[in-house]
Amino acid sequence: MRSAIVLGGGMVGVGTALHLQSRGWSVALVDRREPGRETSYGNAGIIQSEAVRPYAMPHDLGGILDIALARTNDVHYSLAALPYHMRPLLQYWWNSFPERHEVLTKTYAQLISRAAPEHEPLITAAGAGNLVRRDGFRVLHRNQAQFDKEAKDAEAVGKAFGVKFKLLSAAELAKAEPGLNESGIGGLHWQEPWTVSDPGSLVTSYAELFVRRGGKLLRGDATTLSQVGSGWAVVTDEGRIEAEAAVVSLGPWSPTFLKRFGYDIPMVRKRGYHRHYTGGAPLDLPLRDAAFGYLMNPMAKGVRITTGAELSEPDAELTPVQLGKAEAAARQLIDLGKPVEPEPWLGTRPCMPDMLPVVGETARHKGLWLHFGHGHQGFTLGPATGRILAELMSGEAPSVDVAACAPARFGA
Ligand SMILES: Cc1cc2nc3c(=O)[nH]c(=O)nc-3n(C[C@H](O)[C@H](O)[C@H](O)COP(=O)(O)OP(=O)(O)OC[C@H]3O[C@@H](n4cnc5c(N)ncnc54)[C@H](O)[C@@H]3O)c2cc1C
Repeated sequence: MRSAIVLGGGMVGVGTALHLQSRGWSVALVDRREPGRETSYGNAGIIQSEAVRPYAMPHDLGGILDIALARTNDVHYSLAALPYHMRPLLQYWWNSFPERHEVLTKTYAQLISRAAPEHEPLITAAGAGNLVRRDGFRVLHRNQAQFDKEAKDAEAVGKAFGVKFKLLSAAELAKAEPGLNESGIGGLHWQEPWTVSDPGSLVTSYAELFVRRGGKLLRGDATTLSQVGSGWAVVTDEGRIEAEAAVVSLGPWSPTFLKRFGYDIPMVRKRGYHRHYTGGAPLDLPLRDAAFGYLMNPMAKGVRITTGAELSEPDAELTPVQLGKAEAAARQLIDLGKPVEPEPWLGTRPCMPDMLPVVGETARHKGLWLHFGHGHQGFTLGPATGRILAELMSGEAPSVDVAACAPARFGA
């Protein structure tokens, strides 16, 4: 029987472990915490079938000035952090130009199209149907130019990829969400995404399924990984374990981890915050407030507000500037109630400079496989790219051509 150690129990690692297991591999899933307690816990909880185009950086002067002059709440940066982000950001910017972005979209759209169909059987087998709603999410607009642009983009992805959406007048939005005090100038309803009331619990239920099917879930520190003979070993709470292959699914921690093996992989580390609020007016579906770059999702712990991208120094203290602005904006729209947590949650979107995840084997270490960098959509994509990685590891033809996702593009 073939054997693998999967390092990292977020949505990406758990998705990988389940697919390897279903191909007959003996799999140990190793994390220093419980599965699904980091980035895959704190996200906005949307399985985003509408996100067929990867999240690009603005490349026009207006968009860049909006960020530089802090005229948008989508991005917040600290000047001191810019040297640290400069190299991956410049690559990201270059890849965001329309011609290049269009090429990347070809691969990305195929991955996204497989996301919900890969979650579906796992949700059923894990008995997690109660966590998932299949009615999409809404966007509220306050600015006509922004609304027109999103409507135009939606028309384009609707035509090219068959993504379903509905434009909403202010009155229609108010009717759909009677808890709102105001509904801006209207918005739109992405009708197909699935929304999850507790993202961490969905990962936990998948990890429990993996264990029920005979997988080993172990606590251990990935940094103890070493090459032994033709395989790999890692130290866990239950002792040292060995396997023929190791998969690095450490989300935002992956590039730092890989430095010990001589790989220098750039990543745009976009931090994001969340906080829950309870006791306010009800919200039916998740609502993105386009003008202020945040999303409210009615979740198990209350309405979760999640913010856009923050570029700060590594390990910088919490600077929840965007969350403060988002909360103020949300309070204009709805009675939000009181914050649940004393401090906001902070996590990091692991974004690659070309917006595609890293899926494949390393060039210089046989049996060392990489699976990370899912950026804004790792919660969506984990099981889909998990299947593809398991296919590659098993010597099968991958169900999607992921040549563009190969580690070799970053010298790995
Ligand atoms: C604010 C915000 C909102 C988002 N909203 C969405 C959304 O709506 N939809 C969507 O699809 N995506 C969303 N994302 C992105 C998504 O959350 C991530 O892409 C995804 O969770 C990444 O999953 P992962 O498994 O790669 O990483 P993680 O979930 O971070 O898992 C990595 C694991 O590695 C473990 N680990 C790290 N170091 C070690 C070590 N040394 N030893 C052992 N274990 C270690 C960690 O404990 C962790 O469990 C959002 C992200 C943020 C920040």
